Amino acid sequence: MKVGILGGGQLARMLALAGVPMGLEFVIVDPKPDACAAGLGRFVQADYTDAGALDELAACDCVTCDFENVSADALEALADRVAVRPSAVALAAAQDRLFEKNRFAALGMDTAGYAEVNSRTDLGSAVERLGVPAVVKTRRMGYDGKGQMVLRDGEDLELAWRALGEHALIVEQWVEFDFECAITAVRTADGDMRCWPLSRTWHRDGILRLAGSLAVPGGLQAKAEALVRRLAEDLDYVGGLTLELFAHGDRLLANEFAPRVHNSAHWTIEGAVCSQFENHLRAVCGLPLGATEARGMAAMVNFIGRMPAPEAWLKLPGLHWHDYGKAAREGRKVGHATLNAADSAALKSLAPRLEGLLDADLLGELDSALGEG
Ligand code: AMP
Repeated sequence: MKVGILGGGQLARMLALAGVPMGLEFVIVDPKPDACAAGLGRFVQADYTDAGALDELAACDCVTCDFENVSADALEALADRVAVRPSAVALAAAQDRLFEKNRFAALGMDTAGYAEVNSRTDLGSAVERLGVPAVVKTRRMGYDGKGQMVLRDGEDLELAWRALGEHALIVEQWVEFDFECAITAVRTADGDMRCWPLSRTWHRDGILRLAGSLAVPGGLQAKAEALVRRLAEDLDYVGGLTLELFAHGDRLLANEFAPRVHNSAHWTIEGAVCSQFENHLRAVCGLPLGATEARGMAAMVNFIGRMPAPEAWLKLPGLHWHDYGKAAREGRKVGHATLNAADSAALKSLAPRLEGLLDADLLGELDSALGEG
């Protein structure tokens, strides 16, 4: 079978790396000449609306995306010619933070308090109603902490309005969460759905730094699965998706969802029976799903900006190295490493050896999360 992918970044690369052993072929479209998935299939360097690129995609058995901000027009035009999974509707649902939160609320899912902001006056009254700290975010095109600012006082409001005021905005209450986690699930066209164990996640400056299949308090797994199921069924979703959550006591607040494979579940490559990448491909190709159980415990460290030299780290038993082949650039995700162990005690004893790959505060967080296990 031939799978078309809009976007040729690391997610497309890891999809292709999972699909080639299954005999799948890939057509990868990206406007950037140095797209890091380019070498893993037929690479078409073109805009997403380019007629020739769309013809090549339409000749595939199905088409999927490695990012959610694909223009709905391009997708809808394609959907008349080939199966596009997930659908343009599912992608659109994640493209606007206000509509996304409204959908969560309509589905009875808890969220942080939020308000729509279209003017400086709206911003003032939203913060008055929601209190500080709060966070203002652009409704569209924000990712990895881009397009958002924390608001603590009147001066922050002025700065935020000057920086972001030209965009449609949303303001959210700041959630004093106990921890962040994410549930990754996969669903087939006939409604078969599986979830992986919850990922614990740690962000800095809005960018994911550390994630893993670490223990979470009992009960949250079932709650998270119920939430992602509600969302996936509502969207008649096909493929892999991730719902990012704030855990606060025994409550889970929905933050956002990604209609694609997701960084918080990269640990599933070596840490689960079937990875999110393989299962996404199985779902979009109409094949049966693989098992989503964890194989032991895994912790994944993102490399932001530049890759470390691998030699010292490859000596660590159970460590897997992923270099996306991207040029170094500040704030850019260029690779990750996953440390696998049989159980949380074994992972806890290995984790201190990540010193130097992971900041000291995150090493401490990892250690105490493993202690809870
Ligand atoms: P987002 O782009 O919405 O996923 O935000 C990136 C990260 O910023 C989240 O994973 C949190 O660590 C933090 N963050 C975003 N919104 C909030 C909020 N309302 N309360 C607390 N932390 C937040």
